[in-house]
Amino acid sequence: MNVEVDYLVIGGGAMGSATAYSLAATGHEVLLLERFGAGHSEGASHGTTRNFNPAYVEPPYIELLRRSHKLWNEISVASGTKLLTRTGLVNHGIVNEQREMHRFLKAAGFASELLSARDAKARFGGMEFETETLFIPAGGQINADLSVESLQKLATSFGATIEHEQTVLSLEVIVSQRVHVRTRSTQGDRQIIARHVIVTVGAWTHQLLNGQLELPRIHVTEEHPVHFPQFNSTDTWPGFNHILSPSRSSSKIFGPIYGMHTPGEGIKIGWHGAGKVVDPDQRPHAVDPEHIEALQNYASQWLPGVNTERYQSVSCTYANTGDENFILDRFGPITVGAGFSGHGFKFVPAIGEHLAQLATGTQKVNPFFAASRNIARPVFLERRQELGIS
Ligand SMILES: Cc1cc2nc3c(=O)[nH]c(=O)nc-3n(C[C@H](O)[C@H](O)[C@H](O)COP(=O)(O)OP(=O)(O)OC[C@H]3O[C@@H](n4cnc5c(N)ncnc54)[C@H](O)[C@@H]3O)c2cc1C
Repeated sequence: MNVEVDYLVIGGGAMGSATAYSLAATGHEVLLLERFGAGHSEGASHGTTRNFNPAYVEPPYIELLRRSHKLWNEISVASGTKLLTRTGLVNHGIVNEQREMHRFLKAAGFASELLSARDAKARFGGMEFETETLFIPAGGQINADLSVESLQKLATSFGATIEHEQTVLSLEVIVSQRVHVRTRSTQGDRQIIARHVIVTVGAWTHQLLNGQLELPRIHVTEEHPVHFPQFNSTDTWPGFNHILSPSRSSSKIFGPIYGMHTPGEGIKIGWHGAGKVVDPDQRPHAVDPEHIEALQNYASQWLPGVNTERYQSVSCTYANTGDENFILDRFGPITVGAGFSGHGFKFVPAIGEHLAQLATGTQKVNPFFAASRNIARPVFLERRQELGIS
């Protein structure tokens, strides 16, 4: 049976859910299709914690950050769910960068403090510091599962239709405002004609678009952070990022470290962007013992507040462009949001709004996020090369 719809959002992860909410809340007819069931853990938006780290210097990110900072509060109030918990966030490891970031944050309207290693240790007893540390009080953790659920509930409350276990097989532009979409579910195949399609399928972007659009290469990696139990439940934990150089680490490192407290699960830490490159449909869901051992060694040296003997690992996908910047672009009746790597969640409501505005023609493409941009420095690939990650 053919269906006609104004806006079709493909992919019900965090970005698609936020886009559907923004379109519906501004009075547009929206259908969102998600291939897996509600609350699935096959993509990048599951689990209970993501860091909200305001430490960005690029104006396009600062603009998105300011907007999402406001929208997270609005969505929490509208859904009656606390989505962002403020624990503060510390960045440590590279002093000059942190001092520069301190200046940028001030200009961006985010308060921050430079703490000596001793003062940082006095505040966060479960952690070790060797350099001056940047503390950002506005930082904290976002509950990923609750965010996706709340955004979908709010979208539905504004009239959006959300369907799970609906896989989009293909899309084809017929004329400027007509896209023919084929879908499959246990109820059979379906044809949909949409006036405009928003593609937010994360790790599956290349698979679905199949070369139809000129996009930068997206490298999909399978990431495995772990949760370690705390020794002392009264310790105060901020979110944290630690830039380590191999020369200052007693064991092998696989990249920058990120971490946070996940209530009920312990202290979560992971190597940023160190996972194996995978086909999202053939994921091994297998931890790399060398990476885990290195996380245990890291925690033994820098996180005395956790028990490294026991851990729970999480499996999740990063979709990385070469420069680790997002793709927010429009191609006629198709808008694409992709390449959110391991730093997209904090921006979710603002990205949803931005993609909705691109789709409705009320926003221009920002060259910084354009698919046609020149990727001058492939930082993602360079960092992995330096660290010997294939
Ligand atoms: C381990 C880990 C830690 C992270 N930590 C942080 C952090 O601390 N701070 C931060 O800001 N960000 C963090 N991130 C990044 C953030 O989680 C992601 O950028 C964000 O979740 C990406 O959302 P998405 O909607 O693009 O992708 P996804 O959640 O993967 O959504 C894509 C959806 O599309 C669906 N789909 C795919 N193909 C089809 C199809 N053909 N038809 C229908 N549906 C389809 C998929 O099933 C999926 O649900 C982290 C990510 C990971 C993996």
